[in-house]
This record gives sequence, C-alpha cells and structure tokens, in this order.
Amino acid sequence: MAIDVAKYISWKLNKKLVSIPTILSVDAFTTPAAGVRVNHDVEYLGIASPNPLIIDYDLLRSAPKELNIAGVGDLFSIHTASFDWKHANSKGRSEYPYSQQAIDDGGKILDFIYNNIGNIKENNDNGLRSIVEAYISLNTICLPIDHFRIEEGSEHYLFYELEERLKRPFIHGNIIGLGIYLLSRLQKNDSLFITEMMDESGLIYHPSSMNIRREDLRDSLLNLKKYVTSKDKLWYTIIDDSSIDEEWINENLSDLKFK
Ligand SMILES: [Zn+2]
Repeated sequence: MAIDVAKYISWKLNKKLVSIPTILSVDAFTTPAAGVRVNHDVEYLGIASPNPLIIDYDLLRSAPKELNIAGVGDLFSIHTASFDWKHANSKGRSEYPYSQQAIDDGGKILDFIYNNIGNIKENNDNGLRSIVEAYISLNTICLPIDHFRIEEGSEHYLFYELEERLKRPFIHGNIIGLGIYLLSRLQKNDSLFITEMMDESGLIYHPSSMNIRREDLRDSLLNLKKYVTSKDKLWYTIIDDSSIDEEWINENLSDLKFK
C-alpha cells in the first residue's frame, strides 16, 4: 500500500520516486504502475520508476522473515499464470499476441528461485537479493510486451474475489500462495511440485494463517467463475473453462489448514 501511494503521488505530481522497501512481500517496488482501487476493482495507473531503488539488507532483515518470504508469491505465480496464458491461447482467447519466449523466460525465473530456496527461507543476503533480481528479470520480460500475463492469472483472481468478499487486506504473497495452491490443482498443473516449493520456501499460505474460514473460501470458489466473467478487465484463464463444485472443493480443501 505504501509503495503504491508513493508511485501514484510521484506520477501525479511528477516527483522523483525514491524506493526503499522495508519488506519484500510484493513486486510493487520494482514495477512502474501504481495499483489502486477504482470502484472496488484493482487498476494499474501511471508510470513511476524508482530512482534510486535502495535495497538495504539489514533493514529488510529487521522485518519478520515471513514478510520477506512472502515475496516469492508474485514469483511462484508464474507457474499458474503462464499456464493460464497458454490455456487462453490454445482456446484462441489470448488478449495479447502469444509469446513462447516470454513464457520460457518466466520459467527461467522460477528455476532461479528454486535454486535459491534455502537462502530465501533463511533471509540471508543471497536469498533477499534473489527475490529482488527475480522481480527485475520479470520486469525485463513484461515491460516491453506491456502486460504481466506470465505472472498474473487465475491465482490472483481468487485473491480479488476474496478481498472483495471479506473486505480486508491481506499480505499479498501469502494470499497469492493460497491461489497458487488451489488454481494449480484446478489446472492439473504440477500442483504437488509447486506446493512442495512453497513449503520449502517457508511461504505462509494456509487459510488458518489469514483467518479465512472454510465456508468463506468455499463460497469464494463457488462464485469465482461468475466473478471473473462479470469483470471485463480480467483475462481469460482456466476459471472460464472450469466448473468448481462442492465435490471439487471437498477434495481440494482437505489438506489445507483452517482454524
Ligand atoms: Zn501480485
């Protein structure tokens, strides 16, 4: 929230943006557009690039570890979002020219994160640096093509629905982790592997840790398809071609922790 406000003000007032993240829970400190809510929906507005971007490892380490680990949420989401883009393209529904190169380059970011997972869990310099460098690599792929479809897809849409339903904020990477857990299952997309990676990184994604009740998550999942089809701006994903029912929910929520 703080960085989005800063980006918005920098853009509107044409002021220099100095960015000093104190946690790495989201990629916003490396991306140019400010995420703001317009009539309840998230929109990305303006251009404000940090100059300079200051990464102070000691400062980052003064935060609880899990708030930095949460940074992998917006990187592991490449796993599900890239799948969604491929899926949309296979149905002739991609909103953008399809780029296998962008997808492949996104895969390399995931490999880089997997290779640094122990460091990330420890919050050592190499781990913190690998999150920042991965975000910058993501920008290198996404800014020239002018969209973040390799990194944002159905896993983010579950979060949008839940946020609108529960009307409270979440730590971004954690709620995206829950989205990756569930949507990789809906996609039948190597869900055990990506879940293992999330577990190894120490990412918090169980509903109990975010005070999400089972019935709220159930209602959100049952409403998800209706929700995304009601929003013109949301991209075509696996959700459009799925039918989430009680049986699927019972099966796929069984290993998640609730209070
Ligand atoms: Zn995100």
